[in-house]
Amino acid sequence: MNKKISFSIWYVFLAIWAVILVHDFILALQKIEEIPYSEFKTLVVAGQVAEVSLGSHTLSGKLKPAEGAKEPKLFSSIRVEDPDLVKELQAHQVKFVGVVESTFLRDLLSWILPVVVFLAIWFFIFRRLGQAQGGFMQVGQSKAKIYAEKDTKVTFADVAGVDEAKEELREVIEFLKTPEKFTKLGGKIPKGILLVGPPGTGKTLLARAVAGEAGVTFFSISGSEFVEMFVGVGAARVRDLFEQAKLKAPCIIFIDELDALGKARGMGPMAHEEREQTLNQLLVEMDGFDPRIGVILMAATNRPEILDPALLRAGRFDRHVLVDRPDKGGRLAILRVHARQVTLGPDADLENIAAMTPGFSGADLANIINEAALLAVRRGKDQVGISELQEAVERVIAGLEKKNRVLNKMEKERVAYHETGHALVALSLPGSDQVQKISIIPRGIAALGYTLQLPTEDRFLMTKSELENKVAVLLGGRIAEELIFGEASTGAQNDLVKATDIAKSMVKAYGMSEKLGAITLERERQPQFIQIQMSQEKGDYSEETAREIDCEIRRIIDEQYERVKRLLAERKAVLQAGAKVLLEREVISGAELKAIMEKG
Ligand code: ADP
Ligand code: ZN
Repeated sequence: MNKKISFSIWYVFLAIWAVILVHDFILALQKIEEIPYSEFKTLVVAGQVAEVSLGSHTLSGKLKPAEGAKEPKLFSSIRVEDPDLVKELQAHQVKFVGVVESTFLRDLLSWILPVVVFLAIWFFIFRRLGQAQGGFMQVGQSKAKIYAEKDTKVTFADVAGVDEAKEELREVIEFLKTPEKFTKLGGKIPKGILLVGPPGTGKTLLARAVAGEAGVTFFSISGSEFVEMFVGVGAARVRDLFEQAKLKAPCIIFIDELDALGKARGMGPMAHEEREQTLNQLLVEMDGFDPRIGVILMAATNRPEILDPALLRAGRFDRHVLVDRPDKGGRLAILRVHARQVTLGPDADLENIAAMTPGFSGADLANIINEAALLAVRRGKDQVGISELQEAVERVIAGLEKKNRVLNKMEKERVAYHETGHALVALSLPGSDQVQKISIIPRGIAALGYTLQLPTEDRFLMTKSELENKVAVLLGGRIAEELIFGEASTGAQNDLVKATDIAKSMVKAYGMSEKLGAITLERERQPQFIQIQMSQEKGDYSEETAREIDCEIRRIIDEQYERVKRLLAERKAVLQAGAKVLLEREVISGAELKAIMEKG
């Protein structure tokens, strides 16, 4: 609706402008001079006028050619109420005719212009209103764009570290390439494939690569874009999408963020009418098409457990492909894929980078290569070296350095002790992640300083004492502040959140509290494709158990608190020496702090 209105307004404006322009142009071309009526009368009396056309409101005519001039001069004038005019013209032998003049322009100006102005104001107000109401006027100007790519130019060579997923998708490519082969054998063709995995692991990339490998058109749309609209519009879009796809078969339809659209019906505070209709339409379309025409539906989600079970039933998204975070080998492969676009120096050891980035997604790794290349450019280098890569890892972990955030001297000192506290505890407790670097240059949104700890290997298990050590390291910052300044500051909030979370998981999920025993009180929502019970949020335990849980969490934190307090009190001299160096230099390495510690 919105779009149409704005269009017609522009057409009218354009038309008016064009008319005015043409009118002026014709006048200019004919060199018609606009003169006052009085001057016209004088000219008539002086016998200079040759002929006149009389309209009811205007008149125009020709003068007698002046001496030497070939062209007679043209003029026009507004006509004034003047009963003697005709008599006078006759007296001075002026030829005259009456004409019916075109009133188009006048009508246009007196009628259409106000209407246009009104429409413009109306349009403007409603657009404002529409924005305020979160898209009331968005209807029809749907944000849910269907993107169709004829040739995605992405192949399996561009996707690394997800070999199992690739293996599973090979069959789909085969089918899209030669559907006849499959139909002849009567094999079952998958209709809907659900890619499941954390954000940034390459689900979209993988879907595009399937289209690229098979050489078919790739239709994509995001689930979250469907649900912002009026009831019925999303459903119409789904219909539209499938219609377009069927015309272009063989092809792939890819729906990103399927969970936004396919949340279990009846979940949440209100049943969402629009989402439900859209989802129903999607189900109808899925049931209604025959994959043998060469249309394959793919979708991605990182929260399969909240999907409506109807979506996962046989004949719909019944094939699930896990796209997980890459392991070390996978990370190296992904880094290599993205490093093809940059020039690496001889010291740029990608294996080193792969080793220090457990838990990173493909998108994070792509980002590292990109950041490193930008850094190299900024440093005027023509190759990306290991120092740029390492700096890029830090940037991706901790955000950008914020050199312009100025801390006062007191704050800076506090941050230096806080960070040295973390680092010192980490260095003192066996089995903690290696301390790479301690910095008091503010970074990212919230960090005023940070201690960069990187694991040396991928970990899949953690022991109880390792978790306790983690809590201890997190408390180290706050306790160092207390020890030196006598009181804590707000800077430790984030640390406390993390420490509490760990302690909570130890008690509730991992059964690591002796008092409560080896039971789990919190069922992690597994990404299983089962119907969810709404009552699972709190877990089913008594008030009494809840109180015990709280006590146990507090006990774990308190124990670590006492332990760290003793540890730092013993090493107060090292803490002070380390913080002093950090204050001077702003950044020191873990090894340097270790050297200070060993000196005593
Ligand atoms: P998702 O859809 O899972 O959130 P994307 O496919 O959008 O993730 O990934 C974003 C970007 O990250 C990709 O365009 C690509 O550059 C990079 N990337 C992610 N995973 C991989 C991978 N396995 N191999 C290569 N590049 C990857
Ligand atoms: Zn801290």
